[in-house]
Amino acid sequence: MAQEIARRVEELRSQIRRHDHLYYIENQPEVTDQRYDELFTELKTLEKEHPELVTPDSPTQRVAGRPLGEFATIRHSIPMLSVDNTYNAEELRAFDERVRKQLDVSDYDYVVELKIDGLAVSLRYENGVLATGATRGDGEVGDDVTTNIRTIRSIPLRLHDGETVPTVLEVRGEVYMPTKSFVALNEARAESGEPAFANPRNAAAGSLKLLDARITATRNLSFFAYAIGEISQPLAQDHWHTLQRLRHFGLPVNPNVQRARDIGEVIEICMGWADRRETLDYQIDGMVIKVNRYDQRDILGATGRAPRWCIAYKFPAERAQTVVESIAVQVGKTGALTPVANLQPVRLAGTTVKRASLHNFDEMQRLDVRPGDAVLIEKAGEIIPQVVEVRKELRPQGAEPFAVPKRCPHCGTEVVKDEAYVYVRCPNPDCYGQLKERLRYFAGRDQMDIEHLGVALIEQLIEAGLVRTFADLYRIRREDLLALERMGEKSAQNVLKAIEASKTRPLWRFLAALGIRHVGGQSAVVLADHFGSLDAVMNATQEELQAIDQVGPVMAESIYQYFRTSRHRVVIDDLLAAGVRPQPPEPKKQTGNLQGKTVVITGTLKTFSRQQAEQAVREAGGKTSSSVSKKTDFVIAGEDPGSKLQKARDLGVEVLDEERFKELLAGKET
Ligand code: NAD
Repeated sequence: MAQEIARRVEELRSQIRRHDHLYYIENQPEVTDQRYDELFTELKTLEKEHPELVTPDSPTQRVAGRPLGEFATIRHSIPMLSVDNTYNAEELRAFDERVRKQLDVSDYDYVVELKIDGLAVSLRYENGVLATGATRGDGEVGDDVTTNIRTIRSIPLRLHDGETVPTVLEVRGEVYMPTKSFVALNEARAESGEPAFANPRNAAAGSLKLLDARITATRNLSFFAYAIGEISQPLAQDHWHTLQRLRHFGLPVNPNVQRARDIGEVIEICMGWADRRETLDYQIDGMVIKVNRYDQRDILGATGRAPRWCIAYKFPAERAQTVVESIAVQVGKTGALTPVANLQPVRLAGTTVKRASLHNFDEMQRLDVRPGDAVLIEKAGEIIPQVVEVRKELRPQGAEPFAVPKRCPHCGTEVVKDEAYVYVRCPNPDCYGQLKERLRYFAGRDQMDIEHLGVALIEQLIEAGLVRTFADLYRIRREDLLALERMGEKSAQNVLKAIEASKTRPLWRFLAALGIRHVGGQSAVVLADHFGSLDAVMNATQEELQAIDQVGPVMAESIYQYFRTSRHRVVIDDLLAAGVRPQPPEPKKQTGNLQGKTVVITGTLKTFSRQQAEQAVREAGGKTSSSVSKKTDFVIAGEDPGSKLQKARDLGVEVLDEERFKELLAGKET
């Protein structure tokens, strides 16, 4: 028995660690938060009953997550802890009991805040100026994401009221992605074949930890301040007044912060928000309840994982039961066929849900969803509805499994199964379904950004026989548009103006718009920057493509094959002939001392994060690579350089220390 318990404890720890990795590092969780929390609670309960099994490295004893390793790191002067969870009023009362017992007074109050579904960061202001920004990491050490933090508009680079701002002020808060941006980002990712983010928190974390700050800047992240870390002189005696001061300095503090005199009021506030959460334009996954006075917080203290003066109340994920009326098949822009469940309309978390994604046919078969089935649906990350369970005991007699289609529902072409993936595809490049999706994507906000060219107009244009290729868009005339239903003079002018304006979009947008499999916006930026011209991208060999850090073998193969397909060459020639002129990226400095040089950086540098160092190399005209070869010109070695340094020595590649690297950047000859 004891052995069995020990085994279960180990099993739970290993499962939790795996989910932590998927969640904090990959930003692609496999299970819902509730499932994760169930595993966590089971482990906590077993450890409580068997304290001899508790080890210091158990997930219950420490903050999950760790720095990613791709950024420089920042050590938090005051640890950034997690928050313990509760799921109902009873657990909130139990928390209050513990607080009362430990404080041994009844004279205390709470501050109740929204639990914003994003990720925690610590911003350090020195003399009122933003100096650094870091993620929580493992609580002690986080990633230095200063460059990316600077792209978030709601974070002031300089605080107001310079006179009274303490010399050192560390502000902690949540970076989040507003709902609208989250939905748009996931739509764009689905279109380019990238996996959707399960919730806004993963999307915000994925966006903040990108190596290219320009992409972070397009993700429309925002920020709310809710705490302080290190501070050179206190702002107030309690949390409530501290928040007022932070607001006064120009920091965004959520307006829905409330004070509560006792736990009864806390519960009332929490329950109230459970019903009103959809009125917000960002997502919350619960409430955070904090003891207000700092001296009382000191008495309560913290465990290694979470403070004892703070608790989260998490809203239960909402589920609803409904019936699958039918299963439809959608065709994406690259021909991927996806099953979608048409549902009997049902209210769920504030909206009426009529459809749910079944992701792919493998998933449909795994769940064994059939037309007619009663199913439970849940909003993943509270937004995209998905089928989570089939109530097989309610299955009507004769409900047959939905057959994987053999032919494309739009053009009737026989489908092919994608060997490496779980998709079934329509291979016909002229398929109407694909054409519509391709055009929609081409015109989309993150590609050619053609305003006023929405899906309804695209359908009209295809049906009127006006558009069959991307280039056809640039041949549309005013009178063609005016002949369409519901199209007035003014609208026609707007459409034409928007199409004209898109002719000179930057090269990366053009590359993204082509809809090359596996190439999303971020990869398109990398390609445009690396090659500098459309011709160079088109003529790149597979080896050249693969030599780029952010391009893996699958993407390299896909890009290479795309440009070797004569049909695609025709698409591009046609666009150029129609007057489209993708604009090359800003020319790199011709004076940089690293012009044309390939540089490998290894180890930790003192004055640059890895990202900053790579940017500095690029700005000086050089390229960075992740592996040392004979083609490497310099290896920059920081602290703890690892095997790359040895390899450089073996190959006789010149090794520079950080000082020498800085001199080189400053233009001093080697
Ligand atoms: P948490 O998300 O439950 O709560 C703490 C966090 O809340 C803080 O770090 C902060 O980022 C955030 N927060 C938002 N608003 C706040 C406010 N007003 N005041 C203070 N904090 C605020 O804790 P965690 O340690 O970050 O994550 C653990 C949770 O993450 C788990 O309970 C689980 O739900 C989820 N998780 C899920 C998986 C999965 O595989 N699905 C894996 C790991 C973790």
